[in-house]
Amino acid sequence: MAEDTILSTSGLTKEFAGFTAVNSVDLSVRRGSIHALIGPNGAGKTTCFNLLTKFLAPTRGSIVYNGRDISREKPAEIARLGLVRSFQISAVFPQLSVLTNVRIALQRRKRGDSFDFWRSERVLSELDAEARSLIEAVGLTPFLGLTAGELSYGRKRALEIATTLALEPEMLLLDEPMAGMGREDVERIAALIRKISKNRTILMVEHNLSVVASLSDRITVLARGQVLAEGDYATVSKDPRVIEAYIGS
Ligand code: ADP
Repeated sequence: MAEDTILSTSGLTKEFAGFTAVNSVDLSVRRGSIHALIGPNGAGKTTCFNLLTKFLAPTRGSIVYNGRDISREKPAEIARLGLVRSFQISAVFPQLSVLTNVRIALQRRKRGDSFDFWRSERVLSELDAEARSLIEAVGLTPFLGLTAGELSYGRKRALEIATTLALEPEMLLLDEPMAGMGREDVERIAALIRKISKNRTILMVEHNLSVVASLSDRITVLARGQVLAEGDYATVSKDPRVIEAYIGS
């Protein structure tokens, strides 16, 4: 594995009852990059993500993260190593405030459930300050006291990203971060992704190709479970196999 590769897969394969959803995928993500995984519907993008975070076990192949084979690790251990998937909005508690949601996420990362630890005034005020700074980072300070349920869709995604950042990921997997958003929210989340990518690696599945074009350093195109092309946007968007896969889908 090259020095600057943070995550790589080799021959990654997932079969479902004889159907090969992911077929011998070799993926290599550079440290510090924004890498997009694109492809027509049914290409195997979600299955790939599920394999990377071990929500699914691969049929064959390996996954190496920071030089360590994680193919047999449990999801919680993978998250502990710094490879974290941003969960859908369902991971946010709608009836709790923005501030409380982020505090809960921070509490999860910190000292487990030790009651004495959480009774300390100092710990609670540090937690509060950290939560506020994460909320500031994702642009939600004006909405700090609203419940998560009262936020617009795009702001809920920003909150979801804040709760994920609370886990201090070194590498973040974003599953369609712009799905279902209007233009304003798309721009807001794109700016947020650019900002949080400054000190971490991002791998995202995204359908919005103009977002992919403007954000990604590198793109892997999947079709029918296989890697069709890899490179920067200018290169992959001109590849006749990529054009055909999109038109033919
Ligand atoms: P994408 O995210 O690129 O749209 P998916 O990874 O969701 O693609 O799906 C790839 C293929 O694998 C699809 O044909 C899908 O129907 C199939 N597939 C995904 N999950 C399962 C499953 N649990 N059982 C059977 N087939 C599945």
